[in-house]
Amino acid sequence: MAKHLYGDYSTPEKFLESFMAGLEKRNPGELEFHQAVKEVAESVVPYMFNHKKYFDALILERMTEPDRTITFRVCWEDDLGNVHVNRGYRVQFNNAIGPYKGGLRFDPSVNLSILKFLGFEQQFKNSLTTLPMGAGKGGSDFNPKGKSDREIMRFCQAYMTELSKHIGENLDVPAGDIGVGAREISYMFGQYKRLNDNFVGVLTGKGISFGGSLIRTEATGYGVVYFTENMLNHIGDSVKGKRCVISGSGNVALYAAKKIIELGGQVLAMSDSGGYIYDEAGIDNQKLEYLIDLKTTRRGRIEEYCAEYDAKFVANKRPWAVPCDLAFPCATQNELSFDDATDLVNNGVMLVAEGANMPSTIEAVHHFKANNILFAPAKAANAGGVAISGLEMTQNSMRISWTSEEVDQKLQDIMRSIHAQCVKHGQNGKNIDYLKGANIAGFIKVADAMLAYGVI
Ligand code: NAP
Repeated sequence: MAKHLYGDYSTPEKFLESFMAGLEKRNPGELEFHQAVKEVAESVVPYMFNHKKYFDALILERMTEPDRTITFRVCWEDDLGNVHVNRGYRVQFNNAIGPYKGGLRFDPSVNLSILKFLGFEQQFKNSLTTLPMGAGKGGSDFNPKGKSDREIMRFCQAYMTELSKHIGENLDVPAGDIGVGAREISYMFGQYKRLNDNFVGVLTGKGISFGGSLIRTEATGYGVVYFTENMLNHIGDSVKGKRCVISGSGNVALYAAKKIIELGGQVLAMSDSGGYIYDEAGIDNQKLEYLIDLKTTRRGRIEEYCAEYDAKFVANKRPWAVPCDLAFPCATQNELSFDDATDLVNNGVMLVAEGANMPSTIEAVHHFKANNILFAPAKAANAGGVAISGLEMTQNSMRISWTSEEVDQKLQDIMRSIHAQCVKHGQNGKNIDYLKGANIAGFIKVADAMLAYGVI
C-alpha cells in the first residue's frame, strides 16, 4: 500500500482525523478551505476504503492540492487620480476533466483560503454537471461597492491585463461570482480582446450580442429551484404552496425567487448585507420586478422595499427565524450557523437548498441530517450556473446560439441528471443523503480521470 502524506490509515475514522490534521498543518490559517475539504472527506474517505485504487493512488491528497495558484498586483486609478493597489488571484485547481472553469469574486473578504475552498468545491460541482469542465476560482479583494462605472472599468482592465496571460478558451475560462456581473465581465472581455486580438469564448456570462448564452443570468437561481422540485417530486411533493425564505438579493437569490413564484411557492423573506425584509403577503412577480430593478440596475439597498410595499425590515439579521417550509441560503459562505439551523428545524422547515457556496456551517449541516431535513448541498443545487456557462462555451465553439427554450430545457435535464446521481450514490436506508451522494458522484469522475493519467 502507498504511503499516505497524512499519517494513520488503519480505519476510515483514524485516516480522516490524521488527514485533516495534516491538511490543516500544510495549509495554515485557511479555515474555509479546511471546512470545505472536511465536508467532502467525511463522505469520500469511507468510500475510498471500499475502493482502494483511489486510496492507494493518493487521489484525495492530490485533489486537495491546486495545480497552481497565481497571485498578482492590480494597480488602478480612481476618478480623482488617486492610485490604489489590490491583490488579484486565480487558483487553477484541477483540469483532469476539462479546462479550468469557475467564477471571479470581487469582494474585500477575498483571500486565498476562500478561493481555495471555492476552487476545491468546483471540482465536484463541475463533474456533476456531466460537462467537460475542470475547476478554478479567482478574484480580488477589490470592493466594487460605491465605485463609479469608470472606476469599475479601470479596475477590470487592470485585473485582466495580468489575468489574460493565464487564461484561454481551452485552458481556463472564468465567469462571474459575488461582485462580478454582466458589467464586469463585459469590461474584462473587452480588455482580453484588445490585448490578444482574438475573439474567443474566454469568459462566460458575456452579453448576448457578443457570445453570451440566453438564461445564463437566471441559471443558478432557476437550477436551485429545479433541483428542489426534483427532491420534492421524489417524495411525491412539490414546491407549489410552500412558504419559502431566501437569503441574499443578488443574482442567485433573485432568480431563485422568480422560479419559486412561477412554480406556485410563496416567497416571504429576502435579504442583503444590511438585513432582511419580511413580506407576510408574499413577494409576487410585480414586487420581484421592483426588487430586480432596485438591486441590479439601481444598486440600492433591500430596506428600500419597505417604502414601496407593506413589509417589515429587520436590520443586521439573517432571515432564518422566519417560519418556512423551504429555506434557500443564497448570499455567502457560513451565513447559516448551528443556531440558525436550530431555529429553522424548530419552526418546521422540511428542506434546505444551498444556492450560495458553503452557506451552512458543518454543525448546521449535521443538525439538518440529525433531524432528517432534506438537504441539497451547494455543489449539486447551484451547479446550474456553471452548467449553462459550459453550454455557453459549447455555443461559442460551434458559433451558434440556442433559444431560451432550448437552454432552459438543457438546464432542467442537467439538474435532473445531478439529482439522479445524488440518489444513486446517496441512498441511506429509506432516505437519500444528498451530501454524500453529490460528494461521491462528483469525486468518481474526476478521480477516474486522474487515475487514467498515471502519476502526474
Ligand atoms: P451577488 O449577485 O453579488 O449577490 C450576493 C448577495 O449576497 C447580495 O444580496 C449581498 O448583499 C449578499 N451578501 C454578500 N455578502 C454577505 C454577507 N457577508 N452577509 C449577508 N449578505 C451578504 O452574488 P451571487 O452571484 O448571487 O452569488 C451568491 C452566492 O452564490 C455566492 O456564494 C456565490 O459563490 C454563489 N454562486 C453564484 C453563482 C452565479 O452564477 N452567480 C453560481 C454558483 C454559486 P449586498 O448587496 O448588501 O452586498
